[in-house]
Amino acid sequence: MIRVKIKKEQLKLIFNRLKTSHKIIGPKINNDVIVLTEIADFYDIPFGYREQQGKGTYRLTKGSSQFFSFSVGPDSFKRFVNPPAREIFAFKKSKKRISIMSSNKSSAMSNEKSDSSQLAMVRVVQHSSSLPFLFVGMRACDIAALRLLDKVFLEGHVKDTFYDSIRRSSLIIGVNCLYPGDNCFCSSINTGPEIKDGFDMAITELDKSFLLEIGTPSVREMIDELPVENASNEDIAEKDSLIANCKKNMKKTIDISELPWLIYKSLEHPRWTDIANRCLACGNCTQVCPTCFCNSSYDYLQLSGISKKIPELSGTRIRSWDSCFSTNFARVHGGNFRPSRRARYRQWMSHKLSYWIEQFGSLGCVGCGRCITWCPVGIDITQELEVLKK
Ligand code: SF4
Ligand code: SF4
Repeated sequence: MIRVKIKKEQLKLIFNRLKTSHKIIGPKINNDVIVLTEIADFYDIPFGYREQQGKGTYRLTKGSSQFFSFSVGPDSFKRFVNPPAREIFAFKKSKKRISIMSSNKSSAMSNEKSDSSQLAMVRVVQHSSSLPFLFVGMRACDIAALRLLDKVFLEGHVKDTFYDSIRRSSLIIGVNCLYPGDNCFCSSINTGPEIKDGFDMAITELDKSFLLEIGTPSVREMIDELPVENASNEDIAEKDSLIANCKKNMKKTIDISELPWLIYKSLEHPRWTDIANRCLACGNCTQVCPTCFCNSSYDYLQLSGISKKIPELSGTRIRSWDSCFSTNFARVHGGNFRPSRRARYRQWMSHKLSYWIEQFGSLGCVGCGRCITWCPVGIDITQELEVLKK
């Protein structure tokens, strides 16, 4: 591993160098929340901000002198590698045949920009350039979540070509967390706070400089052009001490030693009913979770296609995020196999902390704490797990 350091203000040189070749996705404040979005300028990064997160609460405060003193907002990689809605293909139906038109693989639907050539109801983002993504400021938990998404979208029987093309072309600049969010528990799951692999470059914000750890040759070439100096043993020791401090300050934990058996033996625990009485089945926890990947697809038909005067019907097949909390998700011919909120919450938590281990060989939770912060009624997966032990 190559380790160098750079003066803090010179980090923008890396940014400026990479923005000519990549579309930079990073943290930026929008509506008083740190989201992940395209950033055009190094100073878009919310320098000096901290987050106060609680059960169902999130507040930003200013006052730190660090660049990266915030932790994670509601967004993660997921929104870019597996967008909330995207067109899979468009089709035309005539009296004799159905024609399938392949979709633009780089299109993903959202409310950011619209393309008038697309259907009116859904708005389609054409990534504004053909440049590959550079994800900057990603945390260890999110890089761990990305590895889980790889198992789902790349390592199964069918490879998701959209995901694959973004994943292969993207660069990842991670940031080691030094200030844990109030709901973080990555340390107890061994997914953070230190980024150990899966990055092109990892940044640690030391007192007077940034320590840069270079993971891949693509970044190494660029570093050779920049005013960096070799990192010293003291710099490495400072990093280790800051990471140790971050672990010490993490307020939440879960005990993974009893998983998955704790879930199996608790399937009839009365706590599921108690949770169901509080849970709104809104699905927020699944939308913010960086590892939740469930989706549904549906066909969107243009109203004009219904007219008998028009000989062809045309429409679009759309894939969009879904949630195991949605009633229709478990509706099949003959009935709904998870008709209650009790069954739906139990499915969500059991999949994360138990079935996933059999399915993918690891937990489905990376300890980012988003589901706790963004649950409108403040249901806390770490506390619910503790209660199941009793
Ligand atoms: S279950 Fe909650 S804490 Fe775990 S990865 Fe998902 S959002 Fe993060
Ligand atoms: S646990 Fe919270 S966020 Fe998740 S569905 Fe229930 S109320 Fe919504």
